[in-house]
Amino acid sequence: MTVKRTIRIAFARIQQESNEFSTVESTIEDFERTHYMEGNVLLEAIKPTGKEAEGFMKNAELSGFYKGIQEKNSEAQIEIVPLFSAWAVSGGPLSAETQSLFENRLMSKLKDAGPIDGVFFTMHGALRATGIPNPEERYLQKIKEVVGANTPIAVTLDLHAHLRGDLVELTDVLCAYRTNPHRDHAKVGARAAKILVDVILGKTKVAKTWRYLPMILGGGSTIDFLPTMLPVFRKLKKIEEDPRVLYVSLFMVHPFLNSPDLGWAVHVMTQNDVQLADQLADDIANLAWDVRHKMPPEFDPPDRALAKVRKNKMARKLGTICLCDTSDAVGAGGTGENTHLLAYLLTHAKDLLSYVPVRGPQVFEQLVNTKVGAQVSVTVGGYLQPDINPEVAVAGRLTYNQATKAFGQVAVVDAGHVQLVITEGAPLAFKPEFYENVGLSVWKADMVVTKGFFPPRIFFALHSRKTLNVATKGITDLDLYKTLDFDGPVHPIKALPGWRKADAERRQANPK
Ligand SMILES: [Zn+2]
Repeated sequence: MTVKRTIRIAFARIQQESNEFSTVESTIEDFERTHYMEGNVLLEAIKPTGKEAEGFMKNAELSGFYKGIQEKNSEAQIEIVPLFSAWAVSGGPLSAETQSLFENRLMSKLKDAGPIDGVFFTMHGALRATGIPNPEERYLQKIKEVVGANTPIAVTLDLHAHLRGDLVELTDVLCAYRTNPHRDHAKVGARAAKILVDVILGKTKVAKTWRYLPMILGGGSTIDFLPTMLPVFRKLKKIEEDPRVLYVSLFMVHPFLNSPDLGWAVHVMTQNDVQLADQLADDIANLAWDVRHKMPPEFDPPDRALAKVRKNKMARKLGTICLCDTSDAVGAGGTGENTHLLAYLLTHAKDLLSYVPVRGPQVFEQLVNTKVGAQVSVTVGGYLQPDINPEVAVAGRLTYNQATKAFGQVAVVDAGHVQLVITEGAPLAFKPEFYENVGLSVWKADMVVTKGFFPPRIFFALHSRKTLNVATKGITDLDLYKTLDFDGPVHPIKALPGWRKADAERRQANPK
């Protein structure tokens, strides 16, 4: 019998997508409200019997990590060491206090963990912190300070990550989602875990490279199973059938970051084959570059959306119609305070029943002692981002007023044709439960307003007979990139003959 080597892998998560147009900083409370775990509670949550991110998904990257490690147990005795896992809904940049809290916690827990052979770290890749450039690269540097420069680090990323040379440099294994809307969290975690174990055992030597693409938008709807991007993602899968290829990632960057070097990117890892990695990275970059002219579908202004709602009587009768407030997509960092659509529906949709969410923490001081059933007049908007979200007054009967874990205090005001759900925290109105839990049956509504680009289409599939993307004005408008300062020409602001010049310049500082 051969004696199996014992290896110890520490694992952690700090995951949030920042929106730098938001002036509402994210804090540790935002993470605690969504998902925060450490130690044994975390370890139990990622086992097949546990729930990694209750309310969001049963299995995500860390459950995948656990599964991947189990599959490697025949090759080595593997001990996994939970540090902590913090995951928040997209929002404004981290406060400086929260950033330093995370850095310190990461370091102290790693120090307490004892000797470590490898680190598995889940993050988004588009996190920002106030006054601190590159917070995620800093986490990786802090990890290295504790475990040593030669201890491998595996990282999983969202495909909306902003990949940069420093991040590539600081990681040994890098795997990103390859679905949009994202559904492969666990699969990606398992893959990264297995490659990490092979690296630790010396069975794999990773050759890696990356490419920068000077493009901000493209790829049509960017949905992986719809025309424009389907052949691209299929091709990525095909490339990985080659046993010499470890993993390929394509990053369709989150466009709400104020970084001069923003752009799409490609990352390739092969089994110690630099030439192959380079060739594949070029191939994938070409594929992505070829879809740059396919712009996202145009969204409807409220009047056009409302005309469609009125026309679709059958959809309303058989279920409801989802209006995605794309200017305030909480899943992309919208504050949830946008009042434009609310104001429009209050005035122009008196013949239709709509459910509308709005974030209004200022309202709860007024409502603190108000009993359900009372008539109230509240003003929402004009508080978190007053320059964007004008104040709107709403009067009606208070039908709900309670504290919730996910959204803080929640109140419902019955204003007749509009049922207004006011939340203290960001109203992630992705799922029917958002309304059902406060006593509003989604079946009864003609329209429900949701706050995301893609997830509502999945979660409301049972109830929704039609989904309309509505654009008003807000911090998740897809044309906001036009207001940013780039340090070089980017598509679609400028017509560019190719991606190679920008890529070469970008990678000069980090030639790997
Ligand atoms: Zn994403």
